[in-house]
Amino acid sequence: MNVLIYGCGQLAQMMYLAACPLGITVRAVDVDNECVVHPISKDTLTLSLEDAIQQADAISVEFEHIPEHLLALAQKTGKLMPSMDAVLAGADRVREKTLLDTLAVANAEHAIVSELSQLDEVVEKLGLPLILKASRDGYDGYGQWRLKTLESLPELKDELQTLDLSAVPLVVEKMVPFDRELSLVGVRNVKGEIAFYPLAENTHHEGQLHVSIAPAPDSDARLQAQAEKAFTAIANAFKYVGVMAVEFFQVGETLLVNEIAPRVHNSGHWTMAGADTSQFENHIRAVAGLPLGSTEGKTLSAMLNIIGCDHFSRELLSVPRTQLHLYGKKVRAKRKMGHINITADSYTKLGKKLKKVAEYLPVEHFPRIQNEANKLIEIKG
Ligand code: AMP
Repeated sequence: MNVLIYGCGQLAQMMYLAACPLGITVRAVDVDNECVVHPISKDTLTLSLEDAIQQADAISVEFEHIPEHLLALAQKTGKLMPSMDAVLAGADRVREKTLLDTLAVANAEHAIVSELSQLDEVVEKLGLPLILKASRDGYDGYGQWRLKTLESLPELKDELQTLDLSAVPLVVEKMVPFDRELSLVGVRNVKGEIAFYPLAENTHHEGQLHVSIAPAPDSDARLQAQAEKAFTAIANAFKYVGVMAVEFFQVGETLLVNEIAPRVHNSGHWTMAGADTSQFENHIRAVAGLPLGSTEGKTLSAMLNIIGCDHFSRELLSVPRTQLHLYGKKVRAKRKMGHINITADSYTKLGKKLKKVAEYLPVEHFPRIQNEANKLIEIKG
């Protein structure tokens, strides 16, 4: 069994590692130069893309921003899972919003702007504050602008003047006064069976995910069911195969979909330590046509992203039930270098462990740990 992944970053690497014990070979494609590479060493294999596609039993993706001609090449073989439509919906916010509206899945109030002259009317209609997002190629806070006051509108328009909005429109969204951000990671197989992990609570800093806690504190069965309903509608619409993540804003008791990720997701990394089967293994199982693994959370987990930093003491591994996953990348500002998974049997214990781990980490790169730890410590149980 042979799986080909478009993309050769950490997600392909972790899928490779999960596939090894199943006797499944994973190859990766560097989509920038269309070379087939080893997912860990990134060494180029002596294999053309065409041959790799032909030899693959299944083809999948590790991120959504894949050139369309490569997706089309895979799609026409019938081996691409999830399908091209699903990947494109994750890559294009206009498609994503259209899908959510068609399926009547609740999301932030929004409008599409494909000419700058439409902006005044949209601002008038939606009201402030607003967040403007490039419909394509924006992620981790890139390609986003916030508009808080009418006075700053002319300045924003000047900045947007350089963009070709007819080619890449903007999705203008009402800022949601959310209580917190949650995500649901789940997996659907060819038979249409779906297994869900428990909701995770996610804390962002400057547009990037810093901390996930799973299961999300204070999340009851009704909240989980609400998230599962939205996930199921989206996944079934695509006859989706593989792991998908749906990110939500929680406002009171209501969940609004923020984004769909048609792939394994950073907010699911905790499953490597805290669930019966990791998201990576379940993705491989789904695309390989194997039975899905249990998605039960076996303990409480915290996941810390290591961002733009490689200088910290590996002694953090002395904190019991702490795992370190480094991706082997050269350090660069805002780059995801690895993550740390920590597990415990109660939120209070998890919070205390976070504080211990934090002693080994430079605070400027982990600005959210103390606050998250304090919140966890205060939770009973
Ligand atoms: P996104 O790339 O759409 O996931 O946005 C990155 C982050 O910006 C989100 O995780 C939120 O913290 C924030 N954000 C995005 N859209 C909104 C919105 N409509 N209202 C409030 N915050 C938002």
